[in-house]
Amino acid sequence: MKIESLFKKKQVFSFEIFPPKKESSIDTIYSTLDGLGELKPDFISVTFGAGGSAANNKTCEIASVIKKKYGIESAAHLTCINFDKAEVTQVLENLEKNGVENILALRGDKNPDIEPKNDFAHASDLISFINSRSGNFDIAGACYPEGHPNSPSIDEDIDNLKIKVDAGAKHLISQLFFENSMFYDFMDKVRAKGINVPVEAGIMPVTNKKQIERMVMMCGASLPSKFTKMLNKYEYNPEALRDAGIAYAIDQIVDLLSQNVDGVHLYTMNNPYIAKKITEGVSSLITYRE
Ligand code: FAD
Repeated sequence: MKIESLFKKKQVFSFEIFPPKKESSIDTIYSTLDGLGELKPDFISVTFGAGGSAANNKTCEIASVIKKKYGIESAAHLTCINFDKAEVTQVLENLEKNGVENILALRGDKNPDIEPKNDFAHASDLISFINSRSGNFDIAGACYPEGHPNSPSIDEDIDNLKIKVDAGAKHLISQLFFENSMFYDFMDKVRAKGINVPVEAGIMPVTNKKQIERMVMMCGASLPSKFTKMLNKYEYNPEALRDAGIAYAIDQIVDLLSQNVDGVHLYTMNNPYIAKKITEGVSSLITYRE
């Protein structure tokens, strides 16, 4: 099923997982999926490792299992900056062969140790390439409520987002944020720019202080004082921090759903316990259109 069609029916509620770092730990993802699958999200997306080769990436295998074993729609992330057209074609053929119909098309982060290949400069180039090859995939793109760190301004980033949508991104998934007003301001600008595709809000529940610091360093999300107070107070009490993080994420999602957001994408960090608590807290609030 193409994920695009889900947005016509309801506010979409989806999960994101990542393949285990070590090849030998691949089985752990399946016990994670046993827990996440029970929660029946609208789809589960699987990240794509930035380094390594395109062919050996576990994303396709996991996305295929999500669909076939758990009966849940899946989306495979695919980055392009470090791959050429032949490598990307190989991944696309593998996805087709394994029945994966949805792709989150990304540029990927620039890695100072890897010389980028020249076939794709931006996610929009990847989207155009996928569409020129076949119309078999539903393609989504990423967006950044606080602007992408490479962009000189949010307005310029939204101009580039329009190029991505015009290239064929059918819906967008946002970078994580901890202050909903930033997302609403962003959405006003996005709609004013004539970008009318559905946008899912990306929510990451905090599990520990280091994880958030690492994420924030990478993506530049701002931290409201309410959030940093919570981190500072509970940083040495893991159970309290986990519960406060769950409550914070639920609070964000309740507000987003009641403001009629198109969907919420939960960065689960492969943690079924946290995903379960959050899903239980918000599932009755989701609006169905049919
Ligand atoms: P782009 O859309 O190409 O944008 C990158 C920069 O280029 C922006 O500053 C943009 O304004 C500018 N730009 C875009 N198009 C143009 C244009 N046509 N002309 C000029 N400038 C342009 N990374 C991974 O490695 N693996 C993953 O699985 C992964 N999953 C992600 C999921 C989500 C929901 C998000 C939000 C991010 C994810 N990332 C992932 C991180 C992502 O790869 C990085 O943020 C990367 O730096 C940018 O990717 P992009 O697809 O947004 O790039």
